[in-house]
Amino acid sequence: MLVVQKFGGTSVGDLERIQNVANRVSESRKAGNEIVVVVSAMSGETNKLVGYAEHFSSNPARAEMDMLLSSGERVTASLLAIALTVMGFPATAMSGRKAGILTDESNTTARIEDINSHAMKEVIKDGKIIVVAGFKGVNKNGDVTTLGRGGSDLSAVAIAGAIGADLCEIYTDVSGIYTTDPRIEPKAKKLDKISYDEMLELASLGAKVLQNRSVEMAKKLNVNLVTRTSFSNEEGTLITKEENIMEAPLVSGIALDRNQTRISLMGVKDRPGIASDIFNKLAQNDINVDMIIQNKAHDGNTNIDFTVPLNDLNDAKSVVDSFVKSGEIQADSYNEDICKVSVVGVGMKSHAGVAAKAFSTMADNNININMISTSEIKVSMVINEKYAELAVRGLHDAYELDK
Ligand code: ADP
Ligand code: ASP
Ligand code: MG
Repeated sequence: MLVVQKFGGTSVGDLERIQNVANRVSESRKAGNEIVVVVSAMSGETNKLVGYAEHFSSNPARAEMDMLLSSGERVTASLLAIALTVMGFPATAMSGRKAGILTDESNTTARIEDINSHAMKEVIKDGKIIVVAGFKGVNKNGDVTTLGRGGSDLSAVAIAGAIGADLCEIYTDVSGIYTTDPRIEPKAKKLDKISYDEMLELASLGAKVLQNRSVEMAKKLNVNLVTRTSFSNEEGTLITKEENIMEAPLVSGIALDRNQTRISLMGVKDRPGIASDIFNKLAQNDINVDMIIQNKAHDGNTNIDFTVPLNDLNDAKSVVDSFVKSGEIQADSYNEDICKVSVVGVGMKSHAGVAAKAFSTMADNNININMISTSEIKVSMVINEKYAELAVRGLHDAYELDK
């Protein structure tokens, strides 16, 4: 089999763990597989580098951030290739550039446009193991780019698609996809299988076990994706097409996103086109707006509230400032003490009462809901961050996900 194996930060967190990964990869090689390994930086490393940059600037240039952040993955890829070669399993380390990962120019959130897998295929033909530094690519000007936090998952899936791998294994520190984050709810249950769509929803709503864009890509390219632990041989979770899953549960999981900020705009001029002006400008600055609430207008003014990811906050503030300066917004305020909890399940499509149950669970726990949004397969609520874990456990119980 041709297999892509991705090892996340905890799995390569120190030299002993890199050796453990080398052992695992060599076992798979001995079993006759052709292998492309993708690695993350050592756990905590990318955050450390972000912290270094923040020492100098609250809004560092994104191109420099990419130069900086992409360095962590070079370290682990090189070390793993060295370790494997010493063990008698010749391996070659590759940067995103060498692996042919071509991206657009959106620094820190670059999209993969194409993969030129020629170099990888040559090395595979030579019988060598490839170790790719995840999370990064190169744009058409030859500059290094990174694929967004958690982006090594995307590197792995995209490579699996490009080389036509039979399987893409994502090795992490939990043994698969659970009904919710097992670190918050120890009663969470591991799922044998989950559909691409449900996984995409969970990942987009904060379950960081897989980066959302990697799931989107896996669905598009039909990649056989498995999430499992690098610390034992326990079987993982298969992420697959909906039709491969016998009976879809009503609710398959609860997701938590702590990485959200609420922005409130007061005294917004109530004229046609104002929302379009504000949100287009946010979009032009690559800011991902999630929930939006606009209140009824009063004396020609209205209030608009919306949420953005925490790391877009500074950019969003600059955009809002420009409207405050021009007098179209009277006042703005920011609340970082929020989180978003979501209930996800394809079974919701055909069942009433799922949202109502989520709201009454919040009520039973005396948790105030600030914002709500729903789609066919999810219900999301913005609440005060201090109730995050209480809400997750309450919902997990309410939908009997431990059963
Ligand atoms: P890696 O460094 O291997 O990429 P991550 O930290 O990005 O690992 O993702 C793994 C973590 O995702 C787990 O430790 C767990 O706390 C968290 N997580 C959140 N939601 C879920 C879920 N539904 N199932 C499993 N893990 C989850
Ligand atoms: N090291 C990068 C991050 O922490 C990419 C990854 O681990 O997937 O976001
Ligand atoms: Mg990750």
